[in-house]
Order: sequence, then C-alpha cells, then structure tokens
Amino acid sequence: MIIKPRVKDFICLTSHPEGCKENVRRQIEYVKNQPKVDLGKRVLVIGASTGYGLASRICAAYGSGASTIGIIFDKPAHGKRTATAGWYNTAAFEEIAKADGLYAKTINGDAFSQEIKAKTIELIKKDFGQIDMIVYSLAAPRRTTADGTMYSSVLKTVDKPFTAKTLNLKTNEVTEATLPPATPEEVEATIKVMGGEDWADWMHALKDADVLAPNALSIAYSYIGSKITYPIYYEGTIGAAKQDLYKTAENLRKEGFNAVISVNKALVTQSSSAIPIVPLYVAVMYRVMKDKNVHEGTIQQMSRLWHEYLSKDNPVKDDEGRIRIDDLEMRDDVQETIFKYWDIVNNDNLKQYADVEGYWNDFYNLFGFGFDNVDYDADVNPDIEIDLVK
Ligand code: NAD
Repeated sequence: MIIKPRVKDFICLTSHPEGCKENVRRQIEYVKNQPKVDLGKRVLVIGASTGYGLASRICAAYGSGASTIGIIFDKPAHGKRTATAGWYNTAAFEEIAKADGLYAKTINGDAFSQEIKAKTIELIKKDFGQIDMIVYSLAAPRRTTADGTMYSSVLKTVDKPFTAKTLNLKTNEVTEATLPPATPEEVEATIKVMGGEDWADWMHALKDADVLAPNALSIAYSYIGSKITYPIYYEGTIGAAKQDLYKTAENLRKEGFNAVISVNKALVTQSSSAIPIVPLYVAVMYRVMKDKNVHEGTIQQMSRLWHEYLSKDNPVKDDEGRIRIDDLEMRDDVQETIFKYWDIVNNDNLKQYADVEGYWNDFYNLFGFGFDNVDYDADVNPDIEIDLVK
C-alpha cells in the first residue's frame, strides 16, 4: 500500500508505519544521547502511544533503563484503513526496545474502564510484583464511567462567548473564531473526562492491589499557557478539568501518595490541534521560541523533566506544588514577544510572525509523514502486528 496523508480538519486519517517508526527512533536517539537517570525500573505509562505519554515511555526506557507497561487506545490497520499513529508508534517502540533488551508490554483498551485497570494489575503482579512510577498522560474526548454513563468533553469557555484570531487549518489563513460558553453540564462532563477522578481511581486500584512500590511516583500532565489562550484554555472547560486534576494531586498527597503535576509546554499533538485558537498561538509561539533558540519538542520537554526535576530530591515547584517545564514558554521576554506578534499577525505577514510551516511539520510528523529519510512512494505493509497483552 502506498500511504499518503489524508488530512481532515485537525486530524490526519492515515498514518505511515515507516514514518512513525522514524519518529520513535529519533526520540529514542535523543534520549540515548542524554545522561542516565534512575527513576525506578518498573514504569507504567497510561496514554503511552503518542505525544507526552510516548515521550515519557521513551525517557523511562532509555533514560532510566526501565521496563515499561504502556496503556494505549489504538486501532490496527483494517481493510483500506491504516492503523492509527499510536498503533505504529507502539509497534516501533516495542520492536526497538525489545531488540535493545528492554521489557516493553502494551495493553490496548479503554484506560477509564475497570477491566483495563484489572488487566494492568494482573500483569504488574505477574511480571513486576510492584511498580515504581506511574505516568498518567491521557487526553481523551470521552469517558464511560463504571455505571455506564458516557461523558464527552467540550472545548468551550465557561461564561461568555470568546472571539479571537485563529488559524484556519483548511486554508492556512488567519480568521476569527468564536467559542460559545459551555452549559454547566458540559463543564461537569469535561471535568469527568479530563479531571483527576480517573487518575485517583488508578492510584487507589494499584494501592488496593498492593502493587505500588514504597513511595512510588505518580505524575500527571497539565497546561496553563499564555493570557492569549486563557479564555479558551486556563479559564475554559479544559482549565476547569485541570483545576480538578490539581485538587486530585493534593488529595492524593494527603492520602500518602507521591503524586505530582508537571505543567508542560504547548506543542502540536493530536489533542492540542483540536483546540480552537491554540494552533495560531502555537505557530506564533514556535516562531518566537525558535528565534530565541529555546524551542523544545515533546521528547526534549520530557527529557528535561526526567533530568532536571524528577531525578532531584527536592525539585523546584511553583506555589501550588507543580513542576513547571513550561518555564521557557512562560518566560517574560517570550510572552511579551508573543503578545506583540499576536497583535499584528495577519494574512499578509503570517510567515513573518508565525511558524505555520513548523506547525504543519510537527503535525505531519505525528502521523509519520514529512521525514526526509522515509520513502513515501514505496509500497509498505500497513498490517503491523503488536504482541499485545491478552
Ligand atoms: P495525545 O493525544 O498525543 O496523547 C493521548 C494519549 O492518550 C494517547 O496515547 C491515546 O492513545 C491515549 N488515550 C486516549 N484515550 C484513551 C483511553 N480511553 N484509554 C487509553 N488510552 C487513551 O495527547 P498529549 O497532548 O500528549 O496529552 C497528554 C497530556 O499532556 C494531557 O493531560 C494534556 O492535557 C497534557 N498536555 C498537553 C500539552 C500539549 O500542548 N499537547 C501541553 C501540556 C500538557
């Protein structure tokens, strides 16, 4: 099969197995060239197939030599459909890790469900006994709770409509987008999906099953971002969910868990490209951070988290006890330049003030496209198998 990108709105409907492998290989190479850090040898990554979760799994395996269990929610190839990028990434990660003598097993299913939690615990008991670190990196559009209720998250404001510049991803033009306010039910549903409840459920399930090593570290990810995106992110429905996540971390700590939040930089991932207004902010931010030589991708962010924070006895945290690897994005000079560019960016000067090419590059890379050493005209087998945990 010759696989070309088929982009629809903010998603690419196809993924390239060789390109995804190249994406994973490059991230592994990056981590292999960093010093080693010991953060425990048995690591569970929930949401391990793309974005920050995949980079975390790579840091655990190649930065700490850890055995990793990954929880993913991905689809294999079927008929004329390619597999999802997360499927190919995971296949590539497992293949490379195993060739390098590292334990890597993956469970494919709904991490919100009791069934997947039980399956994970069974595997930990069988293969590890206990676990040293848990990374919670889910970004999901919906969640079905134990009583069968399905909640869908929304990306809306919480009070009044908000209008701002945005990048029309179909035409690459600067346009305006207006986001409606969410209903109270929608705010609650977003909290159910992206808040801390399921993270706490995982931690309680692991503890009750006695599979947590003493002082096992659990980390979940968040975003705060610029004042430009406050109405849609920090003060919006997703921000409300993240507030709930912070409260969960606090409660977990009160219960004796070693639970930490890391606030990460905005990057192009399958989840972030779905948030209106954010793509233009990201393109402007990329321009500014690249010009100032402080730009990082997911693997650089996670590697810095491993090296500069998690491996330290008393990592630097903000007033609310969160690790801030968004420090470079939030640096005053970076934000001031972003504000300046944001005010003046329009269709005539878009290339000057926004790194739209960098945005798209990252976007295509997520699905395994755009790597100069991959032959996209070659006939490839889309049916890549993963030896999933049954
Ligand atoms: P992503 O879409 O790249 O990854 C999400 C992962 O969750 C994937 O592996 C996916 O397969 C998995 N997943 C989704 N639903 C699942 C389910 N029901 N069961 C099992 N797995 C499931 O997202 P990301 O951007 O890497 O986000 C991960 C975390 O990082 C989120 O908490 C997000 O808020 C946070 N974060 C993201 C950014 C950003 O700009 N992308 C910035 C800061 C923090």
